[in-house]
Amino acid sequence: MNDRARTVPAGLDGARSDLENLYKDLHRHPELGLREHRTARKATDALRDFGYEVTDGIGGTGVLGVLANGEGPVVMARADMDALPVREQTGLPYASAVTVTGDGGVELPVMHACGHDVHVTCLIGCARLMAQAKGAWRGTFVALFQPSEENGDGAHAMIDDDLTSRSPRPDVVLAQHVLPCPAGYVGIRSGAFLSAADSLRITVHGRGAHGSMPQAAVDPVVMAAMIVVRLQTIVSRELAANTPAVVTVGSIHAGTDPNIIPDSAVIQLNVRTYDHASRTTVLQAVERIVKAECEASRSPKAPEIEKIVTFPPTINDEAPTRRVAEAFAAHFGDDMHTIDLQTASEDMSEIPKAFGVPFTYWGIGGTDPTLYAQAARNGTIAQDVPVNHSPHFAPVVQPTLDTGVSALTVAALAWLGVH
Ligand code: ZN
Ligand code: ZN
Repeated sequence: MNDRARTVPAGLDGARSDLENLYKDLHRHPELGLREHRTARKATDALRDFGYEVTDGIGGTGVLGVLANGEGPVVMARADMDALPVREQTGLPYASAVTVTGDGGVELPVMHACGHDVHVTCLIGCARLMAQAKGAWRGTFVALFQPSEENGDGAHAMIDDDLTSRSPRPDVVLAQHVLPCPAGYVGIRSGAFLSAADSLRITVHGRGAHGSMPQAAVDPVVMAAMIVVRLQTIVSRELAANTPAVVTVGSIHAGTDPNIIPDSAVIQLNVRTYDHASRTTVLQAVERIVKAECEASRSPKAPEIEKIVTFPPTINDEAPTRRVAEAFAAHFGDDMHTIDLQTASEDMSEIPKAFGVPFTYWGIGGTDPTLYAQAARNGTIAQDVPVNHSPHFAPVVQPTLDTGVSALTVAALAWLGVH
């Protein structure tokens, strides 16, 4: 980056306290997927203030801000806005006490337990720095605030609502996620970064009868149990030892009484894979095993296999990743790392895919560095460092926000900076 471009991230000093207040405000007011009305309004108001051309309500609550600044590349940076149905237990002075009424009238606690409030704050911060220093860059900067990442449907909702014709076509899409690494840390990698996730609901059918008369029944409990055991062989027996994948049966339900053989059982499972080939192998194996076990058990009716949630794998394109990694190395020095594969999943890649353009995605640390170092010394990182989706997940405000704003800005300038 040349001296002129360097004036853009330097603007952070003047924005820092506003961003910290914004972050605490967002953290205190989390909203579930597709209900991010207040968050979207905050983004809209900020972008209008900075002079962006704003379109809101895309795919429900999505917000698009465009800052055209002469001839040059178009860079889109995306942040997700939604929170989770988790009861916050961080004890922070700005902790959430929000509850909402969910489907079926149940009361749900709401918490920013995945750090999407960090993402929104950092993108607003980056949008501000870009607007403040228009003399130091050329091109178009696009800030995109996406709803409902946790449900895996927010990127699609925006695409289905004509995102690609409402936004200038980007040359590259950028995004980041706060992770349970020490705050200040920035990590990126080429190729596979986040897994694909597929959640399936499987219903197997038997024939109900009195618990004392198995000869009159086809027992779906035994059928489901055999399926659960057999599914364990997919990763251990059908994939190469160096192909990472996870098959987890997270829920299994059948019956109401010890003395009644029920007539069906429902299994819900989650599959994580890192490339298209292993994803196909695992999903086909699940289907094959379920059907074969039903047949082996004399099931009177074919099983139903429904996909309830699916996330694509997040596979970083090589050229933009190299470009951002070089810019990060120059800006962050030793704080920039090559990150390991992560088992979480994201729908972000649907957006560059809809535009037919490459993307890169990286992680920033959010954990208190002292707490992290202590846990590392004790060999208790897994026990002592709260991870995303935990009710104790509490990114420290700084240097997390500074790092996230700088990372987005430095990455955008790798295309837009005046050379
Ligand atoms: Zn999450
Ligand atoms: Zn997340």
